[in-house]
Amino acid sequence: MIPALLPNYARADLAFERGEGAWLWTVDGRRFLDFGSGIATASLGHGHPHLVKAIAEQAAKVIHTSNLYRIPQAERLAQRLVDASFADSAFFCNSGAEANEGMIKMMRRAMSDAGKPEQFRIICFEGAFHGRTLATLAATGNPHYMQGFGPPVDGFDHVPFNNMNAVRNAIGPATCGIIVEPVQGEGGVRPADMQFLRDLRAVCDEYGIILGMDEVQSGIGRTGKLFAHEWSGITPDIISSAKGIGGGFPLGAVLAKEAYAKALKPGTHGTTFGGNPLACAAGNAVLDVVLAPGFLEDVERKGRKLRAELNKIAAEFPTVFVDARGLGLLLGMKAAIPVAQVQAACIEQGLMAITAGDNVLRLAPPLVVTDADIDQAIGMLRAAATKVAATIGNATAPIGKAAAPIDKAAAPIGKAAAQ
Ligand SMILES: *Cc1c(COP(=O)(O)O)cnc(C)c1O
Repeated sequence: MIPALLPNYARADLAFERGEGAWLWTVDGRRFLDFGSGIATASLGHGHPHLVKAIAEQAAKVIHTSNLYRIPQAERLAQRLVDASFADSAFFCNSGAEANEGMIKMMRRAMSDAGKPEQFRIICFEGAFHGRTLATLAATGNPHYMQGFGPPVDGFDHVPFNNMNAVRNAIGPATCGIIVEPVQGEGGVRPADMQFLRDLRAVCDEYGIILGMDEVQSGIGRTGKLFAHEWSGITPDIISSAKGIGGGFPLGAVLAKEAYAKALKPGTHGTTFGGNPLACAAGNAVLDVVLAPGFLEDVERKGRKLRAELNKIAAEFPTVFVDARGLGLLLGMKAAIPVAQVQAACIEQGLMAITAGDNVLRLAPPLVVTDADIDQAIGMLRAAATKVAATIGNATAPIGKAAAPIDKAAAPIGKAAAQ
């Protein structure tokens, strides 16, 4: 008989009762170091006093009123995001997929309002992940996720990531714009080349098309800037944000320049829950922490420290890891054996890591992770790699290039990232 809770996830047999900072305790009292942050979402870690207080106080006053009325918490959050970014205006919703739906609709509608309704197609990238709704599935373009769900939503063209020739070749008379992740998260923690992002800006300007960025995973401080595109020095036209923006409370946003934001007039788009007082109280509390002086610089510093250690571990255990990659505190290690084995060895040591496509072990600790936490995580990861390497060592003769044949067994891009 089917469980009452629909079994659409392959869940690990762990249930957590409480957390503090980067640590979580299971209902049976075991302690784990959380370097997954609920998929890069618990940006302030667990039980952060400021976030807890903001949510509790707002819940006691008023939780939800709907967008039929003014919402001061949303007005404040929007103003703060606008002041801290390239954007002129913000729309709030409840998830990453919904933020991307909003961004896609805004791009198409802006083109239509400009008298070019035939320009509705959006160029997306191989290895992308944009969500599980019908339009964002089509934008994601991964056949594993689309199978059996009927004809894909039309209007998405996929080209190889970081390949400017392919982008230029894909632009046609029906092209509306481009959507790119500054760091592909689910696709394998693959950062875009900064020059690639600059070239995308230039090609969008050249053709008069719209540059959208999916910052659902890379935004709100995850890479050491408020938004990851800031590393490239260019500004996009529209971005989507979610995951870390509410610190674990469901919240998403579309941030846009005025020329595009104005396309979503009353009646064109909306949501019942989006940007309600409680969600925006959470969002404001997250910004209080993330925008405090020195916080983002410290995220960057901790990211460098963790990355340096991951590089060392990758070099020490060539039969287990191929490389280390990523930006800020969105880091990954491509495994030389099926990544699920490495992930399981980490859990045995008390370290929660997640996986991503391209056979990658993904490390995305809370942004408030401490140096001591990082040191402990590295110890656990090294212990896990030692154990895994020992089992491989028994099975294979020469150390080193054993990775090639084993690697073929790796999951195809995106598959290991199913969520
Ligand atoms: C997680 C993610 C999404 C989807 O977000 P949901 O909140 O799960 O709908 C979209 N884009 C990127 C880059 C993501 O990482």
